[in-house]
Amino acid sequence: MSVSFGLSEEHLTFQEAARAFARDVMRPAAPHHDQTGTYAYDVLKQAWAQGLMNTHIEAAYGGAELDALAGVVIAEELAWGCSGIGTAIEANGLAQQPVILGASDFLKKKYLAPLADTFGLCAYAVTEPGAGSDVQAMQTTAVKQGDKYVLNGNKMWITNAGVADWYFVVALTDPAKKAKGGMTGFVVERGWEGVSVGKKEPNMGQRASDTRTVNFDNVIVPEENVVGQVGDGWSLAMAACDYTRAAVAAASVGVARAAMEYAQEYALVRKTMGVPIAQHQAIQFMLADMTMQIDAGRFLCWNAAWRKDQGLRNTKESSMAKAFCADMCQKVTSDAVQIFGGNGYSNEYPVEKLMRDAKIFQIYEGTSQIQRLIIAREMMFRGK
Ligand SMILES: Cc1cc2nc3c(=O)[nH]c(=O)nc-3n(C[C@H](O)[C@H](O)[C@H](O)COP(=O)(O)OP(=O)(O)OC[C@H]3O[C@@H](n4cnc5c(N)ncnc54)[C@H](O)[C@@H]3O)c2cc1C
Repeated sequence: MSVSFGLSEEHLTFQEAARAFARDVMRPAAPHHDQTGTYAYDVLKQAWAQGLMNTHIEAAYGGAELDALAGVVIAEELAWGCSGIGTAIEANGLAQQPVILGASDFLKKKYLAPLADTFGLCAYAVTEPGAGSDVQAMQTTAVKQGDKYVLNGNKMWITNAGVADWYFVVALTDPAKKAKGGMTGFVVERGWEGVSVGKKEPNMGQRASDTRTVNFDNVIVPEENVVGQVGDGWSLAMAACDYTRAAVAAASVGVARAAMEYAQEYALVRKTMGVPIAQHQAIQFMLADMTMQIDAGRFLCWNAAWRKDQGLRNTKESSMAKAFCADMCQKVTSDAVQIFGGNGYSNEYPVEKLMRDAKIFQIYEGTSQIQRLIIAREMMFRGK
């Protein structure tokens, strides 16, 4: 029986590489992409070249096949650099995860191997205008016609929608069954006839990330583009989240850590009543709470990832990490703005961006309320 709170040499190497990349490449680029909302292609291409994207693609298809713990360690560092650009990077991993988990060798060769070989983008398209938390309300249908499916419907809030080469899409193949075997996952190429994307959403934060609607109008999808078995779409989409929620949680830790560091630096130099504000106990307590909460959040992320790597069920643990870290990041970034006083409210200082960026962690990949529903369900009705 043993427990370790340290990282292996291999994980430390990834952490150092991601930290250097975040410091030297992401941070200098972040203000421009936040202010203009433009997509950070150049930064993403460099991340790809350095092996910081698509980290879970299996070695058999040319990927690095890193474990879940490496994924959360990298996600924290990239979000520390810029969570808008980090989300664009992580969205690729989210789209790939159901394909890694369930797709045929044919699909993996066709859609995963090229992403290991050359820079490219993909997106996870599940949410719809009337179906976010309530995925059962999904309206998109895929109707079988011979050896093809005809796809119709609209997806909303899809990260990387405007830049992706392909989407992982979940659609109803048996509307009466809904999530109980009535939903199927497909790989759908953006270039196919009948696929169109909406305008980029003008979001509050993470503005470097590209979020749009994706519309399917009688799109012909070959049968071989079904991911896994017909009826597996819901379970694949959710199984992917067991990996990715821990990474989203780790990204919240990265943003919170950045906010704490800026607040600490500022508190040591800003003077009121003749002393640095760091000398005031009220400020010290805010900083002490920040570092406590950040460490607690990080351990929840590492535990969720570690369980996945041990082959243990981690649905509850990844939801605990996601809910705790998202809420924690919201509080820490808000307190960082508080420590900066009026300057915190200005975009000439770095913390207002972090506070805007933090909010989405409580919403995407399942809201903080939905995470609590999952935690309660897992603890009471699913057993260990
Ligand atoms: C920037 C951004 C990027 C995104 N990227 C993607 C993506 O790449 N792919 C994708 O598929 N989706 C994506 N999403 C969608 C995201 O996952 C959904 O927005 C989210 O799941 C919430 O769904 P909703 O917006 O429909 O809110 P609703 O489901 O309408 O929820 C509204 C409020 O009600 C609460 N609520 C709902 N049901 C319950 C309940 N049963 N009990 C308690 N409270 C409840 C929610 O917590 C929330 O506070 C993204 C969203 C955003 C904003």
